[in-house]
Amino acid sequence: MSGNARWLLYLLRCADGSLYTGVTTDLERRLREHNSGRGSRYTAGRRPVWPIGSWRFADRASAQRAEARLRRLPRARKERLAMAGDPFEGADFAGPAGPRFCLRCGGRLETVLRPGYEHPVQLCPTCGRVHYRNAKPCAGALVVRAGHILLVRRAIEPYRGYWDIPGGFLEEGEQPQAGAVRELWEETGLEVRLGDLFGFYTDRYVYQGEQGVTLNIYFLAEVIGGEERAGDDAAELGWFGPDELPVRIAFDHARMVLTDWATRVRGEAG
Ligand SMILES: [Zn+2]
Repeated sequence: MSGNARWLLYLLRCADGSLYTGVTTDLERRLREHNSGRGSRYTAGRRPVWPIGSWRFADRASAQRAEARLRRLPRARKERLAMAGDPFEGADFAGPAGPRFCLRCGGRLETVLRPGYEHPVQLCPTCGRVHYRNAKPCAGALVVRAGHILLVRRAIEPYRGYWDIPGGFLEEGEQPQAGAVRELWEETGLEVRLGDLFGFYTDRYVYQGEQGVTLNIYFLAEVIGGEERAGDDAAELGWFGPDELPVRIAFDHARMVLTDWATRVRGEAG
């Protein structure tokens, strides 16, 4: 397929584990629509969604024909096509691409569906290692003071200039609670005491063109010390009430967290 082929057939994984297919010329725009509830009725009730594969077609009609065929395949077959990065109906795979080679021995990975398992995995036929693709754990805190929540404006990509909930990737072996307290200190200069678990949210994280999945763990928290200062990754800090949350919020899941928080606060007030 030529480089100027503009129509993409895409495959999304929804929050309930089901798959959704569609065609578009602009996948990022469609993702924003799906994740804001305006994409389709099906995905609106199953957010967040994220792309697991796409294929590039020369025109809309051929993308739609391929979509009809993709829809009829069993779920595990669709997943396997995307994970392997295989062409489909004569069209090149357009990403997001996963790893192709074994991290241990450099062998070329195969995508297989093992009997009795629901999801395909990548397997190295040379050394026998199974390469699982999982979410990366992150932890953060909803620090609340006088009914206002603490947000940080990001100074780095992705989402530079957007407001975010303080938090970040856990170090290997670090407990989520310790990670949340550490991230708060690094990003805001504040010492916090964690309260109840607020919730778990998965999301997509695109870094230098590569897509990963994050599992974001949030705790409620209060300030017990320190002095407010924006850390290296943050441009500024701000406190926001439930009715004055910023429009430009980084990451789809953070928008969901803040909506859930605002709904909960209003419920407690009413
Ligand atoms: Zn290997």
